[in-house]
Amino acid sequence: MATERAQKERQFGHRARLALTPAQIRLIDAQAHAARTTWNLLHDWWTMLPKGKRTLAAADAAIRQARRDIDWLAPLPAQAAQAVLKTYFQAWKNCWDGRAEAPNFKARLRTVMSVDVPQGRHLQTKRVHRRWGMVNIPKVGRVRFRWTKDLPIGETAGTDSKITGARLVKDALGWHIAFRVQTLATVPEPHPGPEVGIDAGINIPLALSDGHHQDHGRPARLPDGTADRDKWLNLDEKAKLLRLQQRAAHRKTLRKPGRKTSNRLKRTYDQIASLRATAKRRASNWQHQTTTHLARTYGVIVVEKLDIPNMVKSARGTIDNPGKNVAQKSGLNRSISQEAWGRTVAMLTYKAARHGGTLHKVPAPGTSRRCSMCGITTPGSRESQAVFVCKNEGCGWSDNADHNAARNILHLYRMGHVLVPAAGRAVVRRPRGVKPVTAR
Ligand SMILES: [Zn+2]
Repeated sequence: MATERAQKERQFGHRARLALTPAQIRLIDAQAHAARTTWNLLHDWWTMLPKGKRTLAAADAAIRQARRDIDWLAPLPAQAAQAVLKTYFQAWKNCWDGRAEAPNFKARLRTVMSVDVPQGRHLQTKRVHRRWGMVNIPKVGRVRFRWTKDLPIGETAGTDSKITGARLVKDALGWHIAFRVQTLATVPEPHPGPEVGIDAGINIPLALSDGHHQDHGRPARLPDGTADRDKWLNLDEKAKLLRLQQRAAHRKTLRKPGRKTSNRLKRTYDQIASLRATAKRRASNWQHQTTTHLARTYGVIVVEKLDIPNMVKSARGTIDNPGKNVAQKSGLNRSISQEAWGRTVAMLTYKAARHGGTLHKVPAPGTSRRCSMCGITTPGSRESQAVFVCKNEGCGWSDNADHNAARNILHLYRMGHVLVPAAGRAVVRRPRGVKPVTAR
């Protein structure tokens, strides 16, 4: 009896690509456009109204009226329109709690196309083949998707484990379905593995304090020292991307002011976007495999708390006070944001928890300049981006600069300098006009 471990509710998402006919693609496109327009109408209505009259009930009535009056809003299922209202209200709540900017209009070109299916039972998800599942999309019909994960359907579903809803999202590779899944998972035993410090390196994507590192074998910079934005593409793909970009630039010069973007130019843009999407998938695949490996191997994972948006912003400086070495710093910072460090940490957090481990954050300043052997920061110790040689007399220790930082990070944790996270979701209120934190 004692061996039986407690069960805990777990929520996760699962994404699968939909196999659609061109007609079905047009139907879902129309739904997404209608959803975006509903958002824009709602935002217009909300901001025009005096504060006292802004209520959920009034907004609901306004949406119903709009769906009756505007016939091309009709393709959007009623539940999806309700979901737009819910998301819009949540956006304001996030703004009032200081988590996000105020909601705004959604532009046709910049917005990710998406449609919500808020109720899981409408999906009627079924497995029809070893590798294929079927799902019901409101007003479109039955659609196949690739079955790559066991979802709680049929007999495995219950009150505790079920699909609670989904969202259809379109990217450069087509329409996808993102299931919201709720299951019961066994609370894991505490992970007995060793402690490790991890640094988001400049030369190595992830440097570990025990001397190991996680590398994807794709150099972050080009031979001339600039950050390689397309490192996840191979040489042929890079050449193709360059050709497409040149073609797009040329077609743009042919466009007369005030005229619509030509279909040819749009197609070129789509091809560029699809190459970029391929690169992004490769990057995130590597990230998933790496973080899973780390969470399985180590019991305690320690990382720096980096404020990446501010690091990238601060290099640029302000108009009154422009940054120094903007090109170098922003190149450096961009290679950090390119490795998507924030997402790595998010993945490590939930994966470590799932394997019984823990993730801790320590304050970042100085970890790359301090010597991890003698603990003293001596000017000039960091000889280059790659090499650290301690200039402290009587020490002279040298190592890879990223490993040095990772050792410092672990040391900070062992000394008890762990940042305590705010309960629940961190709430940051940053008044306007405050200078961003200086880049490291
Ligand atoms: Zn030293």
